[in-house]
Amino acid sequence: MPQNTNMQTPGRREVLLIPGPTALPPEVREAMAAQMLNHRGEAFGRILGDVLEGLKRIYQTTATVLPFSASGTGGLEAAVINILSPGDRVLALTCGAFGDRFAEIARTFGADVVTVEAPWGTGIEPDAVADALRRHAPLAAVLVTHNETSTGVANDLAALARVVRPAGALLMVDAVSSLGALELRTDAWGLDVVVAGSQKALMGPPGAVFVSVSDRAWDAVRRSRTPKVYFSFERAREALGAGRTAFTPFTPAIPAIHALAVSIRMILEEGMPARVARHHGLAQMVRDGVSRLGLEPLAAPRWASDTVTAVRVPEAVDTRTLLRRLRTDHGVVLAGGQGLLEGRIIRIGHMGYVQEDDLQRALEALAALLPAMGHPVPRTAMRR
Ligand code: PLP
Repeated sequence: MPQNTNMQTPGRREVLLIPGPTALPPEVREAMAAQMLNHRGEAFGRILGDVLEGLKRIYQTTATVLPFSASGTGGLEAAVINILSPGDRVLALTCGAFGDRFAEIARTFGADVVTVEAPWGTGIEPDAVADALRRHAPLAAVLVTHNETSTGVANDLAALARVVRPAGALLMVDAVSSLGALELRTDAWGLDVVVAGSQKALMGPPGAVFVSVSDRAWDAVRRSRTPKVYFSFERAREALGAGRTAFTPFTPAIPAIHALAVSIRMILEEGMPARVARHHGLAQMVRDGVSRLGLEPLAAPRWASDTVTAVRVPEAVDTRTLLRRLRTDHGVVLAGGQGLLEGRIIRIGHMGYVQEDDLQRALEALAALLPAMGHPVPRTAMRR
């Protein structure tokens, strides 16, 4: 398999290992070069229809999946403004920057937001949620980030759903960095609203976001008093139409849909159980590899995400310099930390089209750079 390289920097092949946007398979990139289609015509309608049918299989749902042209945050905003009304009490579960963002969006649109917060690097304990559900009842909704990309933590969504369902609140899930890589069973777990981005585990470019909406959530949509135009679920559902074709009320990001038509086919060919297992294997390889380098993953093993690993940078090492030299000297592009973790961690994305060789290259680059930067690396570190 070819490495996930690009040639945008003359003379150097870079490997992109940030937790989104992720590198794309060649066939997906080629699909984006297709000529534009009439977005109201039969041919485009069939492509979008197939994308949404494929996504339903990945989501494991029979519910409506709505497409919007936006990044992941647009999908979170769409979820908030269609489901909630000003004054609704909402419980936001947060253990990192993206959980905070979901809560902030709800607050911005007038929800009365209470929180359960877990220290960064850990996930949300279901018992803490059960307790908060009792203390703050009645709650309109619970907001949760399935995979907290800022810390490399995967929440136990099935366990959280088991606690939230009996309380009657709608469960709204940010699955932007999980759908397509981690196990996620929308219907079986009773997830009411699930937001998934195109540019991470779904192996597409940025620009499309998808939101599944359960029957219970549609009741809330009908009641919602928050103003909306572009992101209206009702308008989006009306435009979808019936049958094999699907349409959008406004001009869609056609190249992104072309790309996803290919990537979703690839995901379904691989099969979600195999894909979940493959991501687990890649994540394990990274976790073992950084541990051998004497580095410590931020997330405890119980919470470790299979799509992104955040690694603590030793005190002696300057994070900015490390990231720069990984890129300039080794052509390895990793991400830094956000918010509280800026300058304290690096993040390695391992979702989507990423290959073992790409990750090995990143580990070797770290092994080569760290000793001269103040962190001795055991001699045996790079034995596989
Ligand atoms: N939620 C999670 C869990 C994410 O990882 C991201 C992006 O990294 C977002 C939301 C926001 O997505 P975007 O940057 O596409 O708006």
